[in-house]
Amino acid sequence: MKTRTGADAWSLPERAGTLDRRVRAVHALARAVVEPHSTTVPVRSLFVTQLYEAELGDASLLGDLAHSIRSLAMDDEAGRRWSRQHRYPGYTSYASLNDLQRRDPTIADLTKLLGRHATEFAQAAAFDLTRKPRLDSLWVNLLKSGGHHSGHIHPHSIISGTLYVEVPNGSGSIRFEDPRLPLMMAAPPRSEAFVTVEPRPGLLLMWESWLRHEVLPGTGKGERLSISFNFA
Ligand code: FE
Repeated sequence: MKTRTGADAWSLPERAGTLDRRVRAVHALARAVVEPHSTTVPVRSLFVTQLYEAELGDASLLGDLAHSIRSLAMDDEAGRRWSRQHRYPGYTSYASLNDLQRRDPTIADLTKLLGRHATEFAQAAAFDLTRKPRLDSLWVNLLKSGGHHSGHIHPHSIISGTLYVEVPNGSGSIRFEDPRLPLMMAAPPRSEAFVTVEPRPGLLLMWESWLRHEVLPGTGKGERLSISFNFA
């Protein structure tokens, strides 16, 4: 069998062209390593994890909601007890009240607004639903300075979220975890395994309920007020 030598194989002009193309391809790869977000890298994103971020832009509603949260924190003795027993740093109505929208007209207004946002998010997430997402639960949180909430998901729901009502300086941020982490096995560490979002008053976040998240400890002095919810 005749074997070409290296010089023989690359002596023809078209071979030179091939080599040139190959060199360009290698250079393109080298650029790809240096610039991972270069538009020249032929990749596309699959199964993107979406975070819905909207601005409520209604200072008067936020003021009324802050008043509602503080009133609940004073009046809801069962919630205060639960928070104490479970070492929740502050007050949450999570385990004590499941009818806030019937008790409080401001929260009833909010739930209508949240329903519209959830419908938009469901469309963006390409959910194949026969009905609009339905509010399943809603609870208020008054988190004291330094308080945090360890990583968790919200089972039995499709969309979860939080509206930030009052956010004093130094309040804890929310941190989302790459949902692929448990599947990565030998994959190298990467820069975006966690994404942190700094809360601000009026910020409404929504995500799919399986997305693991946590509240990082704050360093500020004030009370961080928020309202969390699940749609099913
Ligand atoms: Fe949560």
